[in-house]
Amino acid sequence: MTNSSSNKIYLFSIDLEDVRLWMPNGEKFKERVCANAHAYMKWLSKHNFTCTFFTVGEVAEKYPELIKEIIAEGHEIACHTNKHIPLDKQTPDAFKKDLEQNITHLLKAGATTLKGFRAPIFSLTEKTQWAFEILEELGFSYSSSVLPAKSPLYGWEEFGGAPKKISNKLIEIPMTVGKVGPLTIPYGGGIYFRVLPPFLTAGKLKKHSTANNPLLGYFHPYDIDTEQEHFMHPGINNSKFYNMLMYYNRDKVFSRLDKIIDKGFKICTYENYCENILKV
Ligand SMILES: [Zn+2]
Repeated sequence: MTNSSSNKIYLFSIDLEDVRLWMPNGEKFKERVCANAHAYMKWLSKHNFTCTFFTVGEVAEKYPELIKEIIAEGHEIACHTNKHIPLDKQTPDAFKKDLEQNITHLLKAGATTLKGFRAPIFSLTEKTQWAFEILEELGFSYSSSVLPAKSPLYGWEEFGGAPKKISNKLIEIPMTVGKVGPLTIPYGGGIYFRVLPPFLTAGKLKKHSTANNPLLGYFHPYDIDTEQEHFMHPGINNSKFYNMLMYYNRDKVFSRLDKIIDKGFKICTYENYCENILKV
């Protein structure tokens, strides 16, 4: 991928986390992380692409063999905190300790280099930008943690949509967002990718034609899981409507992803993108 003929880059990535671990007695439900990670790997291998798995420490601790398999297939492992606590719910010191544990678990599971970080729920905002200094201190070279839009949860609209150097050592690659009706949303991944009909965002894909304007996408194990038991997901205020969306169109994700690849997009790891493709 280093000398790609196409400039259309899809920074497709997996946030490797286990939602059951954030619920009381959540482990009474079936373990689905490994099967879903394997399904993503199978799809990536079909297209001969590698991607980045932003991995929560407690997942690496529970499934070290899975981490080894991901690495053996050439994918990149990056950090996604140890226990998936949003940054505004932590002090800088607590965040640093948590991230150090995340690193320890990933290294123990077989990762050798860890260059990237993604904040849980894109919780790196104007208020929590102290995190950048800690990321630098711990030797990270990139972060993909900012949602550059107004959002009911977290967002930092003023950051802007382009990859940006935070310092000589650290780059932030913010999530891709675009306007759909009155909303500005991250259309390249997750729940929006599943819920919105593709014709609403098809036109937007055309703007991702240069290396410095990649399409970013984040997916979770559950986004493709058609066999997961039905339960109320944590972190959505017991909203039945939102929980319905959590399960919506999961069976359509791979065919929709295939269509993006058909449009000439190439997937690569964030590490490869930062080191060989992005010019900032
Ligand atoms: Zn996450």
